[in-house]
Amino acid sequence: MAPRLLFATTNVGKLRELRGLMGDAVEVVSLRDLPPIPEPVEDGATFEDNALLKARAYAEATGLPALADDSGLCVDALDGRPGVLSARYAEGDDRARYEKLLTELASVPDEARTAAFVCALCLVLPGDASPTIEMGRCEGRIGHAPRGTHGFGYDPVFVLPDGRALAELTSEQKASLSHRGVAFQKMRPHLLARVGGGDVRR
Ligand code: IMP
Repeated sequence: MAPRLLFATTNVGKLRELRGLMGDAVEVVSLRDLPPIPEPVEDGATFEDNALLKARAYAEATGLPALADDSGLCVDALDGRPGVLSARYAEGDDRARYEKLLTELASVPDEARTAAFVCALCLVLPGDASPTIEMGRCEGRIGHAPRGTHGFGYDPVFVLPDGRALAELTSEQKASLSHRGVAFQKMRPHLLARVGGGDVRR
């Protein structure tokens, strides 16, 4: 039987992405598969801090190796905001948040609209003194109007260097270049070595 890994998420898309990457070397379970566990407060100052505090809390609560992610959008013209507060940048839904962003950037010219999605992934084994952290970035800029119907969050206003909005990509296309996809790829050998029994070729 493959060793179990808890991915501390309820997001079905993220879970599918990690399961696709790990194959059958590791059995990936999510928070949806376990009895309710009190959520830790994500009050870290950085993405790494939040991913680490979540992974630690869930590894301790379940006794399973736990992987947690934290991500958000960093806009250069806003000194890195909304950053770790991306999910709480405005009241309401995703649209309210990207519309607030477009309003804040209304007078900012194209060349100064650079931004990056950032993802921190953290792996903690129960009783682990040395957690593993990997980061992923996806560089782009903020457009002037929403485009595309895929994805979530700020995807409709995030424009890649090739001119496509992230929300114009299929989930497979996005996974191959997104901040989370990059972080997953970097974490994969650690997961195989530390959770999956050591064969990093699988
Ligand atoms: P979480 O770390 O997945 O909870 O993401 C925090 C917030 O960052 C989300 O609520 C979104 O607003 C934003 N975000 C993170 N990743 C993405 C992405 O891939 N596309 C669009 N927005 C994202």
